[in-house]
Amino acid sequence: MTEKIFNGIGASPGIVIGRVFLLDRRKVVVAGRPIEDVNVKNEIARFKKALEVSKAQIDEIRKRFTRDVGKSHRYILDTHIMLLEDKMLVEGTIKRIKDAQINAEGALRETIDTIARKFDAIEDEYLRERKHDVEQVAQRVLRNLTGKKQESLSEISEDAVIIAHDLAPTDTLVMRKDKILGFATDAGSRTSHTAIIARSIGIPAAVGLEKITGAVKTGDVVILDGIHGVVIVDPDEETFLDYLKKQRRYKYFEQELFKLRELPAETLDGHQVHLQGNIELPEEVATVADHGGIGIGLYRTEFLFLNKDALPTEDQHYQAYRHVVERAAPHEVVIRTLDVGGDKVGLPGFHEKEPNPALGLRAIRFCLNQKDIFRTQLRGLLRASAHGKIRILVPMISGLRELRETKALISEVKHELRSEGAPFDDHIQVGVMIEIPSAAMVSDLLAQEADFFSVGTNDLIQYTLAIDRGNEHVAFMYEPLEPAVLRLLQRVSLSAHEAKISLAMCGEMAGDPQYAAILLGLGFRTLSMNVASIPWVKKVIRSVRMEDAVELADLVMRQPTSELARSAATAFMRDRFPDLVAEL
Ligand code: PEP
Ligand code: MG
Repeated sequence: MTEKIFNGIGASPGIVIGRVFLLDRRKVVVAGRPIEDVNVKNEIARFKKALEVSKAQIDEIRKRFTRDVGKSHRYILDTHIMLLEDKMLVEGTIKRIKDAQINAEGALRETIDTIARKFDAIEDEYLRERKHDVEQVAQRVLRNLTGKKQESLSEISEDAVIIAHDLAPTDTLVMRKDKILGFATDAGSRTSHTAIIARSIGIPAAVGLEKITGAVKTGDVVILDGIHGVVIVDPDEETFLDYLKKQRRYKYFEQELFKLRELPAETLDGHQVHLQGNIELPEEVATVADHGGIGIGLYRTEFLFLNKDALPTEDQHYQAYRHVVERAAPHEVVIRTLDVGGDKVGLPGFHEKEPNPALGLRAIRFCLNQKDIFRTQLRGLLRASAHGKIRILVPMISGLRELRETKALISEVKHELRSEGAPFDDHIQVGVMIEIPSAAMVSDLLAQEADFFSVGTNDLIQYTLAIDRGNEHVAFMYEPLEPAVLRLLQRVSLSAHEAKISLAMCGEMAGDPQYAAILLGLGFRTLSMNVASIPWVKKVIRSVRMEDAVELADLVMRQPTSELARSAATAFMRDRFPDLVAEL
């Protein structure tokens, strides 16, 4: 057997060797096919059988779910069983098989499309969105009709490398519990949320492999190199041994880096840099310190809203933030207010219908549009500020209006809490994420009214270069060293320094060791990143002098293209820091 090599994007570092588990997350596409009169009965029987099997499967999940997780989300599964008995769905499909004389798959598809159109016309937003449940149920029946299985991640054995067309952030979260070796997907990019979570929980991953799902089957031996984004299926002996060696070397280097965790992030000439961790879940706080980070520079709060049948209550917000801030003490926690929409999870009933979600009702736009949801979060956040050092970070600010409106709302919430006698930090800082080019352009104005900046390069690059951060076809254009991006970074840094407000970066660029020296040279002294990157970035910082970093940043800023910037940076680092480059 010859080995097959796939090149994609390294999404989460590490090298693993294991067996493929092919996870089918695509929709089943079926074709309607005319049938003979004599086959009508047979098709109806097939359809009924598929319904029965589907019911039994959901029932099984319901039992397991209730046993393992409790009853809270069981109603979703009950609804799915009810849908399988729904008259419109069942009788509608049978009637179509008879009248139009088409196969069960085609008849079910047409029936579902008709039902979906009816849902579209419903005024009530909540009910309208239930069409997704109908589609999910239909997908299950179609899979049972066509014999295509949808595996669940919880059924996967321990040493699997998951290969899928795409994965949802929720899939990545489940993986953590199942000790999966790593994953690789056709879709995605370094900054897609699935990749970010993979990094934060330390699962090696490669994304943007485009066609890998079509070339592997469950059980194939596979090597996954999450550093370079390479996947090798059925490796030959030489490659296998080569990667065993690479894996050993990588593990050794990781251990060496780990030893840096107690040492300060300080340049050779004594400049202090603050390295902080980005977290998604309250439980991750401890991992930041374990990796040598000090404090949390970005706590993404979206997960409080994930997989829930109701919005989080004020108390749930409060408990989660209090948990984080107490565990991070005496260090600070920068808590970002809700950033839903875009490539992130959308809230059911709010986000399913947007034609262009990246430019839609995302983050602060959503919060200012749904002030009750925002107010609940702010109340929880402010109450938690009585227990430790919290700063509030507002995502997707495009200009002053949104900042002012947000601050006004925070003042109102403070006023409420004060009159209720609830304690909170009255001097809590409110900062903005600089992740929209307009915010970078008016950063001088924003710096007059914001307490701090945190640059989100994942979105800043997406919006500056008009590249969907999750789209593998344009992922090669996603380039932090693009002159337009660098000029915006420089501008933001200048604005922050002139106004004497603190400046941080929390986008993925901050966690990439190849940019660490450039960012220092551009004036960044606080970098917040996924925990796995902290030792790598620390290693660079401890190896350079500030004057070198400034010289490097000047050199890079003078280059007219990203290609030239990259080669200038590489040559500079090789020349000045040959040992460091060899190790990285
Ligand atoms: C960013 O955009 O760089 C960022 C840190 O936020 P997120 O990745 O959550 O959009
Ligand atoms: Mg962002």
